[in-house]
Amino acid sequence: MTSLSSTSPDTATAEIKDPFAPVASPREPDSAVERIIVDSGDYYLERLSAGQTMRILDLEGNQAADTIFYKADDPSEHYSASNTVREQGNLYLKHGSVLRSNHNNPMLEIVADTCGRHDTLGGACATESNTVRYDLEKRCMHACRDSWMLAIAERPELGIHKRDIAHNINFFMNVPITEAGGLTFEDGISAPGKYVELTAKMDLLVLISNCPQLNNPCNGYNPTPIEVLIWDQ
Ligand SMILES: [Zn+2]
Repeated sequence: MTSLSSTSPDTATAEIKDPFAPVASPREPDSAVERIIVDSGDYYLERLSAGQTMRILDLEGNQAADTIFYKADDPSEHYSASNTVREQGNLYLKHGSVLRSNHNNPMLEIVADTCGRHDTLGGACATESNTVRYDLEKRCMHACRDSWMLAIAERPELGIHKRDIAHNINFFMNVPITEAGGLTFEDGISAPGKYVELTAKMDLLVLISNCPQLNNPCNGYNPTPIEVLIWDQ
C-alpha cells in the first residue's frame, strides 16, 4: 500500500475528491430530438429507446421529480431501489450510478449530473402518507401516486398496471441519512438549471410525477416545472 507521503500531489487530490461533485454534459439543448416542459403537479409517460439519453432539468430549482422506469415490452420489469443500492454499494444516486431492475438488469446509467444528490429511499408522496406524516385533512391534497395512476390510466396501451407502481427515484430530492440511520427530508440542494442525464441500456417507459407536494421541503413548498430533453445519442 502506498503511503500518503509518497503519493503524488495529483493522486492525493483525487483521493479526497468530492464524490458528489457536479459532472456536466457535453450535449447541447439545441440538438435534442425532444424537449417537453412538465408543469408542477403534472406527469410524463413516454418511451425512451436503448441508446437514447434523457435529461431531467430542474428549471426553477428545488423541485422533486418522482420517477419509475419500466422495461418497454414487459412493464412487470421495473426499477429496483434495493438492487441498485446493493450493486453499487452506496445509498445515493449520482454520476456513474447504474440503475437496475427487479431482475437485476441494468436499465440506465447516470452519465451527467450537476445536482449531485438524488434520493431513492424516501418513496413517493401519496394521499395516505399525507395523512400519516402531516394531518388527516391533507388526504385530499394532490400527491405523486395520483399522478402516476392518472398517467397509466390514460395510456392503457403501454401495459402498465396498478401493481406495477413500485420503487421510485426522487430526482433532485435531498434525503440524507442521519448518523443513527434515520431518513430526513431536507431542504433541496438543487437550483435553477441543475440537471441529471441518463442513458438507456434497454427500451424503456419513463413515468415521472413532477411532485405537487406542499407539506415538506422537497420542492421548497413551491412546486415548479421541469423540462425533459432527449437525444438520440
Ligand atoms: Zn410527491
